[in-house]
Amino acid sequence: MNLTDYHSKEMQNTLQREVEVSGTGIFTGERSSVKICPAPEGSGLFFQRVDLEGSPKIPALAKFVQETPRCTRLSNENASVMMVEHLLSALYACGVDNARICIEGPEVPGLDGSSKLFVDLIEKAGLRVQSMPRSYITVQQPVFWSQKDVHLVALPSSEFRLSYTMHYPKCPLIKSQYYSLTVDPVRYREEIAPCRTFSLYEEILPFIERGLIKGGGLENALVIRGDKILNPEGARFADEMVRHKILDLIGDLSLTGSRLRAHVIAICSGHSSNVALAKLLSIQNPPQESVFGQSEICQESARENGYVYMQPGSP
Ligand SMILES: [Zn+2]
Repeated sequence: MNLTDYHSKEMQNTLQREVEVSGTGIFTGERSSVKICPAPEGSGLFFQRVDLEGSPKIPALAKFVQETPRCTRLSNENASVMMVEHLLSALYACGVDNARICIEGPEVPGLDGSSKLFVDLIEKAGLRVQSMPRSYITVQQPVFWSQKDVHLVALPSSEFRLSYTMHYPKCPLIKSQYYSLTVDPVRYREEIAPCRTFSLYEEILPFIERGLIKGGGLENALVIRGDKILNPEGARFADEMVRHKILDLIGDLSLTGSRLRAHVIAICSGHSSNVALAKLLSIQNPPQESVFGQSEICQESARENGYVYMQPGSP
């Protein structure tokens, strides 16, 4: 399937048929399998822990995010699923609005640390245009989140565009990297999907020692030590790291539950700040079709967490 052939920008899309993959979780080291299935109009992207009694559902929306170090975890009552961002990024960028993701296990398989295999699966499944229009969040005025050295700004734009700057002054291999693109399925597949998660050797050591990265290794992450990449095959792109930051940002912004018409400019952001912006975007311009009543809870959550949120013209 060519991703551009079946994807509608006006109407919602789901998969034509279910597809499945299994592998090891980077954090838990546990085997898990994921089956991505078609879902009806208006249902959005949601997980279902089919290994637990009653197969509890966990909607892929910002209000269900429970933070964990180094990845995005969603939870609903007693059920949770971690490392959701790469799969959600692929689904969102490929134009999938509705999908039921049946997962056996607490963590989405890490695969090769990128979203390439998820895109391959979506292509294999094919997309089906549905009968309900998509819900869009159209940014009318700048929305921003800013704390210390981390900044995120969403500007009005007719398209979904992302610009990311990362700055690792202590890592001679990365230093500063910048990447910008308008997200469409083909550019995503070519420029973003193959880019793997990365870690600085010195930074991940404490996590490994504390047993928090049980399944991580050179087969599912780019590991950098000083000015060297430890993976024998090297990097897939010289700026693979910033491209992966964009991959993560797309996955986290998908948690708005809507399509975005915005240019998001991110500087040194990570999962928690990305999700904070996703919440702010939902408050600013709540999607017309909100299945889970997200916007009220987001406003409450923004107040509780003291997010920086200002309208232009505010003092
Ligand atoms: Zn990532």
